[in-house]
Amino acid sequence: MKDYRSLSLWLDSCGDDLTPREALPGDVSADVAIVGGGLTGLWAAHYLKSQAPDLRILVLEAEICGFGASGRNGGWCSALFPASLEQLAAMSTSPSVAGKRAAAVAQYRAMIDTVTEVELVVQRLGIDADFARGGTLSLATNPAHIPRLRAEVDNMHAWGFGEEDLQWLEASQVAQRVRVSGVEGAAFTPHCAAVHPAKLVRGLARSIESAGVQVYERSRVRSIKPQSVQTDHGNVSAGVVLQCLEGYTPQMSGQHRKLLPLYSLMIATEPLSEEIWQQIGLTQRETFTDGRHLLIYGQRTADNRFAFGGRGAPYHFGSAVQDRFDHNASVFSSLERVLHELFPLTIGAAVTHRWGGPIAVPRDWTASVQFNPETSIGSAGGYVGDGLSTTNLAGRTLADLVLGVDSELVHLPWVGHDSPRWEPEPFRWMGVNTGRGLAGWADRSERIHGVPARFAQRALGLFTGGH
Ligand SMILES: Cc1cc2nc3c(=O)[nH]c(=O)nc-3n(C[C@H](O)[C@H](O)[C@H](O)COP(=O)(O)OP(=O)(O)OC[C@H]3O[C@@H](n4cnc5c(N)ncnc54)[C@H](O)[C@@H]3O)c2cc1C
Repeated sequence: MKDYRSLSLWLDSCGDDLTPREALPGDVSADVAIVGGGLTGLWAAHYLKSQAPDLRILVLEAEICGFGASGRNGGWCSALFPASLEQLAAMSTSPSVAGKRAAAVAQYRAMIDTVTEVELVVQRLGIDADFARGGTLSLATNPAHIPRLRAEVDNMHAWGFGEEDLQWLEASQVAQRVRVSGVEGAAFTPHCAAVHPAKLVRGLARSIESAGVQVYERSRVRSIKPQSVQTDHGNVSAGVVLQCLEGYTPQMSGQHRKLLPLYSLMIATEPLSEEIWQQIGLTQRETFTDGRHLLIYGQRTADNRFAFGGRGAPYHFGSAVQDRFDHNASVFSSLERVLHELFPLTIGAAVTHRWGGPIAVPRDWTASVQFNPETSIGSAGGYVGDGLSTTNLAGRTLADLVLGVDSELVHLPWVGHDSPRWEPEPFRWMGVNTGRGLAGWADRSERIHGVPARFAQRALGLFTGGH
């Protein structure tokens, strides 16, 4: 059996012994079968069961709940959504420009509300996930980052969001929150909490179980058909099937070009002393990133470590997902180097955990929720790296779609959105890894010259849909 604790700092420290629950015992029937025991599947189960307590719901998880990205992520419960406001407006079916803009704003507002929803629901369910709503600092650690981050603030304001949603902080204001080498300012949003993701996902699994949802672990689904799910342990006949597989989606037959699995990797230091934190700051446990192209992200954990991650791992040919891809020595050492550059006081602190996992990227970088009333098959995902809170919005939306509730949520622009398929190989492999190389090159150029690498930015837009 896999050593599940070794998969992340979080699974190692969630206080659960991670012994798998029983597997599917044979052929069974249910009203709703949920495939995948990550946050999408578990939130969907939670909201369905809360609204319709008599529904017979079961979750089928290939390993253990929280095995995937939900148990390994950076712990940012943010209002970030992978698609831009402009993209969302273009996706809206409203006939008027004003209607399209309103739909895009509604999607972003729903994400802001989701941070509060997660906070309230975990309190109500008695899940202690070390929730600390300190906001996010997007730091300008290089002069080239300033125009990019300022443009984000200006754009949000142009769409009607206020200083209370996103504001520019001068270097002296940033210093009141965090001491970072060479920082020249930051964009700050209060709409983010740092959480312990494995406490959240494992607590949620326990909670839905005690509400009467049947959770089967070590029960890999082999195929999904309308009203029927096949596993090695038996088949499930169910009125509704919800597929919640995110980075593992391409492993399902016929879906290998739907989402692209991209690895994000993380490290965690040992707990740092109170004296060190007094100098660094982050007293509200603000999450942080900076303006570079190859994303980095971090949080101060409740037990006073740095949990710090970033992109840069290669995309693997054929959308392969394998346990060995969770580790990449060169990405781990560059994460350590960047952490030391940003916070020189971490030099000498032991790195106790190194891990990674797949996020899922749609071709147009736009997450979606789908439900086909004819087949009664639903799905949600494609969150890129912004799924921790988005899964909650997805779960609520899936529940409304399944139950036929005509809520505001089911009219958001991401509902029913169908992203284009990824290119076949080898073009996918060539394109994505070229994009990764370009992002790294642009960051190096900006570090040396201190001016935005505009050519690389434009070229990157071809791969990322403008992100
Ligand atoms: C390193 C890292 C850092 C991240 N940081 C953040 C962050 O800070 N903030 C943020 O918002 N997002 C972050 N993300 C993304 C976020 O974690 C995900 O978007 C989110 O957890 C997706 O949840 P999910 O339930 O859709 O998918 P998952 O959590 O991946 O769950 C899918 C589940 O399906 C199971 N499964 C796979 N195949 C089968 C099968 N055939 N049958 C049955 N079950 C199967 C898997 O074992 C898994 O448990 C990060 C991701 C990673 C990897």
